[in-house]
Amino acid sequence: MQPERIPFPNTNPQPVIITGSVAYDDILTPHGSGTRILGGSAAYAALAASFFSDTKIVGIVGNDFAEKDRERLHSRKIDTAGLTKDESGPTFFWRGRYHENYNRRDTLALELGVFEKFEPKLPDALRDIPFVMLGNIAPVVQLRFLEQMRKPRFVLLDSMNFWIDNAKEDLLNIVKRADMFVANDTEAEELAGEKNIIVAGRKLLELGPKCVLVKKGEHGALLFHPDGLFALPAFPVTELRDPTGAGDSFAGALIGTLAALGRTDFDAMKTAMLYATVVASLTVEAFSCDRLEAAGVAEIQSRVNELRKITRLPE
Ligand code: AMP
Repeated sequence: MQPERIPFPNTNPQPVIITGSVAYDDILTPHGSGTRILGGSAAYAALAASFFSDTKIVGIVGNDFAEKDRERLHSRKIDTAGLTKDESGPTFFWRGRYHENYNRRDTLALELGVFEKFEPKLPDALRDIPFVMLGNIAPVVQLRFLEQMRKPRFVLLDSMNFWIDNAKEDLLNIVKRADMFVANDTEAEELAGEKNIIVAGRKLLELGPKCVLVKKGEHGALLFHPDGLFALPAFPVTELRDPTGAGDSFAGALIGTLAALGRTDFDAMKTAMLYATVVASLTVEAFSCDRLEAAGVAEIQSRVNELRKITRLPE
């Protein structure tokens, strides 16, 4: 039997806590569609992180949430004690449509449902978890969550253009408290007010986070860190089906790897980006979390070896 987690030798593994949306999504792509499929930033991120570390998810679902979907998280050993069910309304719902080349998507519907009145109340036992991911959800929810954590060692913040447009002040308040702020290229350009992605990344650093990671979809990712710049191409995917959750699973795998290594230095971040890139490459090969769940440690490791080979340079 395969191990449940990627084994890293001689490390000091730590647990991860993740908040964000747990959602039902309707997805339209040029080559297919999915209706009311499990999604949400926290669901994708937690599934991704679970390949690396002990993972806890915190969020809220509504009266339409199927217990079989909670089981999907349990089957990857994710602790869902912090995933509250609120019978008074529906689960967060998102409908998105991708354009022909998958590079652009439109939000056709976004219904917060029970998230509208979500007040994260963290049980005492969860407040000391050192690795914290604030997955994409309203920045005010992210802030309330962070305020309950006692002394986080590493805080990863993810967001979305929707919140840049609708809650910019709140978002800026939390960006400055992040150890790593993760954004895609269009979000980075918009928030920095700058088209050149290198200049935009550096401008985002001036907002206060300790480092900034800019994702460029099929063109890979860039890390802006006080010790320097690091760039990694994407894993070469040929079976693109549904890009939803690529960013969330990238971020979840990234913090999961750092937690598994028990390190947050520049080199650890490079390793974490390698694993994050590979996990995101799996997510996009099927609708919902299906491909992510079907993946195994061996498959992740084999893609990591391939990506290492692709990016190796002669001296
Ligand atoms: P990604 O493709 O990584 O950006 O993540 C898409 C997922 O985020 C979908 O499963 C949606 O349910 C969820 N989502 C979409 N819009 C929002 C939003 N404004 N806040 C929180 N989650 C969202």
